[in-house]
Amino acid sequence: CGIFGVIGIADAANFVALGLHALQHRGQEAGGIVTHDADEGFQSVRRFGYVRDNFTDPETMSKLPGTLGIGHVRYSTAGSKGQTQIRDVQPFFGEFAMGGAAIAHNGNITNANALRRELIERGSIFQSSSDSECIIHLMARSLQRDIPARMEDALRRVEGAFSVIAMTRTKLIGVRDPLGVRPLVLGKIGDGWALASETCALDIIGAEFIREIEPGEMIVIRPDGIESVHPFRPKRSRFCIFEHVYFSRPDSILGGRSVYETREAIGRELAKEAPVEADLVCPVPDSGTPAAIGFSLESGIPYGMGIIRNQYMGRTFIEPTEQIRNMGVRLKLNVNRALIRGKRVVLVDDSVVRGTTSRKIKEMILDAGAAEVHFRIASPPTAWPCFYGVDTPQREKLLAASMSEEEMRRHLAVDSLRFISLDGLYRAVGEAQGRDNDNPQYCDACFSGCYPVEPADMVEQGFRM
Ligand code: SF4
Ligand code: MG
Repeated sequence: CGIFGVIGIADAANFVALGLHALQHRGQEAGGIVTHDADEGFQSVRRFGYVRDNFTDPETMSKLPGTLGIGHVRYSTAGSKGQTQIRDVQPFFGEFAMGGAAIAHNGNITNANALRRELIERGSIFQSSSDSECIIHLMARSLQRDIPARMEDALRRVEGAFSVIAMTRTKLIGVRDPLGVRPLVLGKIGDGWALASETCALDIIGAEFIREIEPGEMIVIRPDGIESVHPFRPKRSRFCIFEHVYFSRPDSILGGRSVYETREAIGRELAKEAPVEADLVCPVPDSGTPAAIGFSLESGIPYGMGIIRNQYMGRTFIEPTEQIRNMGVRLKLNVNRALIRGKRVVLVDDSVVRGTTSRKIKEMILDAGAAEVHFRIASPPTAWPCFYGVDTPQREKLLAASMSEEEMRRHLAVDSLRFISLDGLYRAVGEAQGRDNDNPQYCDACFSGCYPVEPADMVEQGFRM
């Protein structure tokens, strides 16, 4: 998901809508905005579909007055069952003795089932099936006097990955979990402030990027200043390495470096680790593009757009059902036959999950008359599900969970298939020494099976790490 908030700026809702539009790649299923205005109080609009279709017409936007607002774009993750209901669309809102608060959550709470059971036993009435709603109920039960303190209380009970943006009548609040699994950044705009999942959402509103919120940090922004607290026991951070590979936008800055540069470095690393004789390097657009450019620069093999993407389709990976995902590849991508014919082609993609995309693309490339097809993948084999907010399927559906690299190559029927090594990926994200196996610098659980937070709900349901 993507989250965004602003304070201290006229017509906040318009800025939130723009910020969410820039974060649309993080979630395309639904979106919501909550604002607060002295006269009108809290207002919210939550809808299915794209931001541009829901939060642009003057009538809707006039329902969201105020100088303070937050928003969320949603995509459903591992824990979610069945079709999303509008009641599951964030931000969530709660009315407390000292006033209301709204929250927008990116990530996934790994002990949500246990918390929900406990809260229901003690009388909480849940409105949605979302794990994020636990935070509101925990806040309601806290005995603290003010809302930031209640949030601290609530989040100390929560396990897993969370970047949260919240608002009260007068404050904008941002928090990251102690491991800092999901991103969150702070920006300045005029006399106001912005919080966003990624810096690309600051760019679109003309805000200046100030810094990342630190893992385990909570910042409370009032019209007259910022306060920073560290409510959790400090731990070594474990940022999601897959944000670098796929999830974040290439024009965002992560860890002081553009995501684009990192992806290009991944491609270079891949070319060193797994060279191949070929005539053409093609990205699987758009997610494979920067890595393909890096691969081409390092190997000296010319780069070309052998596959053309229809810009009006969403990202396949993010579509909620398998049926839609299967169709998605063909609806979205087409081969540039004139370029491909007779060539030995290196196809660079960000990841192989179920293998459906790779298989279809290989068929399309061979149909177009390619002489050879070599896959180079900008992440290690995805062999484990993510329980921290990225939608990977159950373990059984992951190709790499049951097949070796050679078996996958045969399954995809390509001339060669190579993945970047875990150490190579760490080098590309800027860790010169590679992965510290005793104390990894990132979360890489979907590749290594090394989960930084025990996924308690999943273990209870029989998941074996
Ligand atoms: Fe990111 Fe993978 Fe960790 Fe999930 S399991 S947080 S996708 S690195
Ligand atoms: Mg892709």
